[in-house]
Amino acid sequence: MKAFVDEELCIGCGLCCTYCDEVFRLNEDGKSEAYKDVNENNLIKVQEAIDNCPVSAISMEE
Ligand code: SF4
Repeated sequence: MKAFVDEELCIGCGLCCTYCDEVFRLNEDGKSEAYKDVNENNLIKVQEAIDNCPVSAISMEE
């Protein structure tokens, strides 16, 4: 599975990185990016990041 961040929506709050820094990091533009695939060990944390992103910028695909 892969997570995606819509950079147009992301406000760079860093919350997703706090939930799951194995998958999300802030890039040089101050926006979040999903730099690693989602796996069964971090799936719950990624889902929490999706649920708590204040601008609903994160999605996930199989
Ligand atoms: Fe961007 Fe949402 Fe992550 Fe905040 S939680 S950095 S708005 S993707």
